[in-house]
Amino acid sequence: MVKIQVYTKQDIKFDFNKHVDLILSVVPQNHLILLDKISFVDSYDKKIGCDQDGFGCYYFEKKSGTILINLSNLIKHRIPLYLLNYYVEIASLYLSEIIGHEIGHHVDRFWKHGTKDKERYAQKYAEVCYYNYFKKRKKTILLSYFLGEINILDFSKKDRLLFKERRKEHSQWFHDNESKFDLSGYP
Ligand SMILES: [Zn+2]
Repeated sequence: MVKIQVYTKQDIKFDFNKHVDLILSVVPQNHLILLDKISFVDSYDKKIGCDQDGFGCYYFEKKSGTILINLSNLIKHRIPLYLLNYYVEIASLYLSEIIGHEIGHHVDRFWKHGTKDKERYAQKYAEVCYYNYFKKRKKTILLSYFLGEINILDFSKKDRLLFKERRKEHSQWFHDNESKFDLSGYP
């Protein structure tokens, strides 16, 4: 069982336990062996040696792996707070790529014994995780985009068009990649 911990001073409505569990359900379960926890933090402890600007950080000690996710960096550059609070299905989809990348590092470390290009492997893994997550939650994610598209109270016409474009892009991308990622496709 991977522990999910949230250490933040920010007011975030997102249900981390629920969505991280959903994300973890789309990766092969043996890939999670020796992965101890996923912790959401506002900043990285300087002692650990994570890239202070990174969204996620993977490290291992005492024979188990830990994933840290930096909420401040994430909110600033990838998943704005309004998505985490009100469009949780979209936020969760984006998060599946971030977490997938770090699980990729764990799989690389424990199962592949370190491939030549670690970042490339992790990014490939992230892409498959993102695809499988989208496949699992397709209807709810597309509905979430649609709700943004018709929300005239909170969004300008320009912003609503963006929701619409993203919804169409995601449908198209899923359709185009179906054969590429079929049968899980994990590297
Ligand atoms: Zn990486």
